[in-house]
Amino acid sequence: MVALESAELFCLLQPEELTSLRRVASEQSFTVGQEVFREGDPGDGAYVVKEGLVEISGQVNQDKRQVFSQIGPGGVFGEMAVIEQLPRSACATAALPSTVYFLPRAEVLSLIERSPALASALLQLISRRLREFNQHYLLEVVQVERLAAVGRFARSIVHDLKNPLNIISLTTDMFCKADASPELRASAQGRIQRQVGRINDLITDILQFSQGNQSCARVPVSYATFLEALIAELQPELDLKSVHLNFAGAAPATILSLDVKRLRRVFINLVLNATDAMPSSGTITLRFSQDAREVVTEIADTGSGIAPEMQEKLFQPFATHGKGHGTGLGLSICKKIVEDHGGRIWARNDPAGGAVFAFSLPLPAK
Ligand code: ADP
Repeated sequence: MVALESAELFCLLQPEELTSLRRVASEQSFTVGQEVFREGDPGDGAYVVKEGLVEISGQVNQDKRQVFSQIGPGGVFGEMAVIEQLPRSACATAALPSTVYFLPRAEVLSLIERSPALASALLQLISRRLREFNQHYLLEVVQVERLAAVGRFARSIVHDLKNPLNIISLTTDMFCKADASPELRASAQGRIQRQVGRINDLITDILQFSQGNQSCARVPVSYATFLEALIAELQPELDLKSVHLNFAGAAPATILSLDVKRLRRVFINLVLNATDAMPSSGTITLRFSQDAREVVTEIADTGSGIAPEMQEKLFQPFATHGKGHGTGLGLSICKKIVEDHGGRIWARNDPAGGAVFAFSLPLPAK
């Protein structure tokens, strides 16, 4: 049980201020579950818990009520509506058998005007409550955002799995035709194997992303040969999406030190992003340049271009925009792989339209 003068808000008051407070205070008792006030009630006074426990809650949706705080003996509640002169915005319910002091609004306001100590204590109380509420709200937002990211992630995986599965399904039909020639069967088998490889890569990607750092297993490879195999692998999907792949100049046959499996992922992510940006057909142009230090590869598309809201956070994990199935992981994975090779990755919009993604790979030290 707490006397009114020992309540958190009033312990700094002068004796005469306490006397006038005691004079206007009345006591009210509530059984468990009984409402002290509910949303929309007039803000006709503030309350101090003498004994028991009062829960402050709000309606989150039609059938869910959320408890914001619990006020024990000595705690104050209902002060906001008094100051704002607005109806109650939350509901106060006795969580235990409780007795509260009720302080009518007019008296509380006139006491605040007369007592700087009370005004300052009240300000501190409200500021502390806001801070607690913000903290609570922030944690909820982070939680909701995490769940949404997991949902986007799952949708994207399903989407990324569907493409190779579709190709496998179409190719199997071709393979099973009674009149399929041995050459056709061999080509279908190769196509299926490549798509299974892609699914495998995707799963590896997800595992690698969730595991963080990994080593880079690099071997000397001709860049042109590496690209040739990769384009053959991507071609069926580009055909399916009516995307034309164009080489502006030959790929350099320079020997680079590459982790072939991981660098394939960079290409596949960039090319598939470009096709996503061109839903009803378009052209991807590959451009290459080389100087004494590095080979630069550019992948230009004729799509929508990079959205302004993505410019600053393009390579950050979970940054995605304009895609129902986006996880925002693709470019962050590309950045990590390119940097593990000692290169850089960047992007820009072409003034003539579309996006240009570029990355550099260093030449091996002589
Ligand atoms: P996701 O594709 O899952 O969204 P990414 O990290 O691969 O994740 O891409 C992040 C975002 O960058 C995309 O959602 C898209 O808004 C933008 N983006 C990537 N590539 C292109 C492109 N070629 N043209 C336009 N926007 C692009």
